[in-house]
Amino acid sequence: MTNRELDTLRKVLALERQKGCRDTAVVGGLDRFLARWLDRLPDQPPVQIPRQGYASMSAEQRSQWLDDTITLLDSDDSAPAPAARRAAAPRRRTTGSGTQTRRRNDQQERSLTSSVEALPRVTPAVAARLRKLGVSSIRDLLYLFPRRHNDYGNLCSIADLRLDADQTVAVSVWEARETMFSGRMRATEAVVGDDTGNLRVVWFNQPHLARRFKPGTRLALSGKVSLYRNAPTMQSPEYEPLQDGEALIHTGGLVPVYPLTEGLMPRNLRRLVRVALDGWGHLIQDPLPEAVQRRTGLLPLSQAIRQAHHPKDYESQDEARRRLAFDELFMMQLFVFSRRREWRESGGAPPLRRDHAVLDALLSRLPFALTAAQRRALGEILSDMESERPMSRLLQGDVGSGKTVVALAALLSAVANSRQGAFMAPTEILAQQHFRSIAELLKGRGATADGDALLTFELPPLPRPVSLGLLLGSQPRRQKREVQAMMSQGALDMVVGTHALLQQDADLPRLGLAVVDEQHRFGVMQRASLRHKSETPHLLVMSATPIPRSLALTLYGDLDLSVLDEQPPGRQPIRTRNVTPDRRRDAYEFVRRQVGLGRQAFVVCPLIEESEAMQTRAATTEFHRLSTEVFSDLTLGLLHGRLPLREKEDVMGRFQRGELDVLVSTPVVEVGIDNRNASVILIDGADRFGLAQLHQFRGRVGRGEHASYCMLMSDHPSVEAKERLEVMERLSDGFAVAEEDLRFRGPGDYFGTRQSGLPDLRMARLSDQDLLALARQEAAALLRDDPALKRTEHCALAQELTRFSDASSTGEIS
Ligand code: ADP
Ligand code: MG
Repeated sequence: MTNRELDTLRKVLALERQKGCRDTAVVGGLDRFLARWLDRLPDQPPVQIPRQGYASMSAEQRSQWLDDTITLLDSDDSAPAPAARRAAAPRRRTTGSGTQTRRRNDQQERSLTSSVEALPRVTPAVAARLRKLGVSSIRDLLYLFPRRHNDYGNLCSIADLRLDADQTVAVSVWEARETMFSGRMRATEAVVGDDTGNLRVVWFNQPHLARRFKPGTRLALSGKVSLYRNAPTMQSPEYEPLQDGEALIHTGGLVPVYPLTEGLMPRNLRRLVRVALDGWGHLIQDPLPEAVQRRTGLLPLSQAIRQAHHPKDYESQDEARRRLAFDELFMMQLFVFSRRREWRESGGAPPLRRDHAVLDALLSRLPFALTAAQRRALGEILSDMESERPMSRLLQGDVGSGKTVVALAALLSAVANSRQGAFMAPTEILAQQHFRSIAELLKGRGATADGDALLTFELPPLPRPVSLGLLLGSQPRRQKREVQAMMSQGALDMVVGTHALLQQDADLPRLGLAVVDEQHRFGVMQRASLRHKSETPHLLVMSATPIPRSLALTLYGDLDLSVLDEQPPGRQPIRTRNVTPDRRRDAYEFVRRQVGLGRQAFVVCPLIEESEAMQTRAATTEFHRLSTEVFSDLTLGLLHGRLPLREKEDVMGRFQRGELDVLVSTPVVEVGIDNRNASVILIDGADRFGLAQLHQFRGRVGRGEHASYCMLMSDHPSVEAKERLEVMERLSDGFAVAEEDLRFRGPGDYFGTRQSGLPDLRMARLSDQDLLALARQEAAALLRDDPALKRTEHCALAQELTRFSDASSTGEIS
């Protein structure tokens, strides 16, 4: 056997693994390659290579088989020397002589910030898969905590095995052979035993194990025993060779179950985390000051991390979770406390007097009276604005609760004080809509040739016309320049826009109030750039994400809270129904009937997370399908984030004017679109959205006097997804939905990094009230003592805080 032949095999297998185990590495398929390869060999191969069977394996089995075979090839003595092998398969674990020195060198270069590719057997392809789980560095991997643990703790003897419970046995293999099941499926069937008896074990679809488990091999097996053809049989258990003195990672005790992504096998991920823990775990530094640690009595960090992955028992797991949850809450508290302090200390704000005449003039123009909740919130806002201390207030209200008009009143109040007001929205579509609806409310008149970017309106108590501008990134340049010029001369009273408002050439020298809609998409950086010289404007952030109060205090501890807990009168309840795939036709029929009644409809396309381009393509395809096959008799429009501004405007305008029956869109409609005639929203791929998001979608209908409907379609929802979707049918109140959602998922999942503007809470739970109080207390004490974290013993903590705020600001800018 030559090294070259082995090398070829190794390369082919590595390539096949890298290409995603789709049997595409060699023309004609791996099975034929292997057969030919075996035929060419003059003698027995060092590892058992099957002549066929790869093609019939599942993806998981293929990956497993490749991993196993490559490992065996790598550990084979007749293989080339380590140096040569490294060339063929870089970053593999090295064996044999010379390892000692190499290991020591590795050690010196090791850092938690190293890419996961520093780990053995992590190819770029594997790294890409890990990235899908948010893991790029070793540190990320150590913080990729298991979703749960499987309890294989009770190591028992074969005689004591019970049916249908998870159990682990330590056995020797008596015999293992390949068999066929139902004439098609290849499997390994083994008889194993300990000193109390024998047991049959079957691994479906993994015939290669028959060759691997030679008689006498000692194994730990974890899994369920059930009756198979009347004999107790362990079916496809997790397995692990037993070696004296080595801890079990797949089968012993509480076995971690990690979040999975396509192409990463549970075993592999478990192994990777374990290797990272063993080789890098000692590098973890504990940023928590000793005093805090002493007072709280929490575990040291590195121990907590290790224990979170591999706890001894549930108690020790909880102990680990508490420490890690404390860290999250503590960092978050430090973060919001210092953010608040910065905002407050960055300079005084202009005190803005309450102008009753102007407010009355506005209110009398509204076609409705404010709700009590709106009046209360407005009162809180206006009195904050009277102070020299910059307001930082969160206006929270369920979709449709009428936040916009409250914001408008506050903005006009700034204008009445000869100050500028800015209104920022997360998307161009929303900014345009705010601009248009303010114009409509105030009966504005266009002031430029381009029509829509500058308006003025009269509000009699005010001595001169009020000007309103619109600033968007994708506006025609001339229009943008004109608005920017007026802004920075201080000649523009109010401006509505997107992030474009924060660019350098968009200055607001007399800014009195900044309103930020759907604030979680705006970051710390953006906030900072609203300041002008020594002056800090008042800040009002608005969110439709209904957060339970306890959580709001944590997430937005830097903001005072006003809540609109009341819907304007006359709102129609929205009937929500889950629709199974076989009822798709009926759902479309229902939409058609609503259109027949003069109503309008939304169709939301499934979320595709990979890329916006794919998302756009999918929505476009769906739009064509619906327009030609399903609703060929109706007028449809398509809305997605990538449309040129003009077209977005055009589509939105036509939908608002009732010229479109159905608006097909990517999930961009989530926020804000306000069409009182829309009565039905059909959400495709509903199981991919969080409840909070679905609730936002649902808020697009039922905004007028028409009975309204929300249809949730999902093709293959998991059991859990079904349960979640049923919550939507049952509950209509956003806060109640949020509470339910939080029970299904942690707060981190609920908000997502991107949405909350704060890093994931992975370990903390809503029920951690005591930890939360503790974290708040410790954070406050620490900052009282050392406000800027300047002391040496707080150095690690300051670093950690920077990491935290970087993560949150990059999370927000999107
Ligand atoms: P959101 O809080 O979701 O941003 P909006 O501000 O868009 O809600 O308001 C939703 C709709 O309700 C708008 O059409 C708005 O004009 C209307 N509205 C706001 N306040 C009231 C009220 N007090 N009575 C009746 N309709 C109202
Ligand atoms: Mg809104």
